[in-house]
Amino acid sequence: MSLPLQPLAALRREVRTYAERAIAPLTDEIDRSDRLPPEVFRGLAQEGLTGLGIPAEWGGIGGGTRELSVVLEELSRVSATVGTDLSVHLSVCAAPILKWGTDTQRTRWLRPLARGESLGAFALTEPGVGSDAAHLSTRYERIGAGVRITGSKMFITNGSSAGIVLAFATFDPARGSHGISAFLIPRGTPGFSVAQRLDKLGLRGSETNELIFDGVELPADAQLGREGEGLSIALGALMGGRIGIASCALGVAQAGFDQLRAAVAQSPDDERRARLARAWADLSSARALIEKAAEAKDAGQPYELAASTAKLVAARVAASIAHDAVEVIGGPATLRGHPAERILRDARVFPIVEGTTEIQERIVGKMLSESGTGRIPSDHA
Ligand SMILES: Cc1cc2nc3c(=O)[nH]c(=O)nc-3n(C[C@H](O)[C@H](O)[C@H](O)COP(=O)(O)OP(=O)(O)OC[C@H]3O[C@@H](n4cnc5c(N)ncnc54)[C@H](O)[C@@H]3O)c2cc1C
Repeated sequence: MSLPLQPLAALRREVRTYAERAIAPLTDEIDRSDRLPPEVFRGLAQEGLTGLGIPAEWGGIGGGTRELSVVLEELSRVSATVGTDLSVHLSVCAAPILKWGTDTQRTRWLRPLARGESLGAFALTEPGVGSDAAHLSTRYERIGAGVRITGSKMFITNGSSAGIVLAFATFDPARGSHGISAFLIPRGTPGFSVAQRLDKLGLRGSETNELIFDGVELPADAQLGREGEGLSIALGALMGGRIGIASCALGVAQAGFDQLRAAVAQSPDDERRARLARAWADLSSARALIEKAAEAKDAGQPYELAASTAKLVAARVAASIAHDAVEVIGGPATLRGHPAERILRDARVFPIVEGTTEIQERIVGKMLSESGTGRIPSDHA
């Protein structure tokens, strides 16, 4: 793909053509087998998409949030699994290394991620810790200039295949958010293992793992950012990633809408047309919110309110359109192998990942009630 010179509409056409040719024939098999064939990631790498948003000097193809959003939407329209895996790789692993890493860390870890020689993961969630990320129980202690990490992580996308895992641990749980630091843990480090691969409702083929850190020893340069900066890195990465995951949800919503529209066209009546109109309005609103958030981020303007709102709305819209599609299609849509059935299961995951709907509501509500924080764009205030 030729970025960033390509206009967005041309990029969308190019990615759609690629996704329909290279991924669509595999979508059903990915879902059934719960495995993503390695050639899919290799194909994304060949297209340069594993380096989207990463400058050429670090092995990427450049491009901004708007390009990323269009790519993730189009990939997710065909396979939410592929879109989500790429979103995690880019938004919450590569982007924080680009932003917070030293040049040595960028050379060592970002370049292979950008070229698709290595897959990235982000490990914050733990068996007992989800939304309340300030209370991690994975611990690290200093040993000489390096650290030793002990604990476990749950629900980690790309967890077992990743070449590098951006993981978060605390040196003192009593210090809450101030005790957390971020570490880059390479695959194969002694003490790092995969306890289980989780068998999920949706996004099947996207591996979701429990990871164990049993006395994982790392050198000093494995730390990303300064001591105690870990939670800000995690939350900053998730905030940027929210536009990416919203775009994946939008792709799923579009796929659901395509199903619904075809079904209504086949046997239209007034009630069905009205339902299609409501779905169209919801889809268009989600897309407009995502575009607004991506534009603000690319322009260096406050984007946090728009990003959380976009994630909140896109996840809800994906779930509701997927539900409508199944209802209008009827019995056939309940059968394994029907696209609407897979879309319904995939859509259900988006209100949970990268900050649940309730957490987005809390973030948005807090920002709105604290105007003047500088995070609200002026035309929203
Ligand atoms: C498919 C999948 C992939 C994932 N990939 C990753 C990954 O790559 N890396 C990673 O670190 N994590 C990952 N996660 C974890 C995901 O981010 C968490 O599931 C999510 O943060 C919610 O945490 P939880 O599941 O522990 O639920 P909880 O936080 O226990 O929440 C349960 C319910 O309570 C609500 N709730 C919680 N706190 C509040 C509150 N303060 N106010 C109101 N309501 C509240 C929630 O909204 C939710 O409805 C993934 C999850 C899934 C399902």
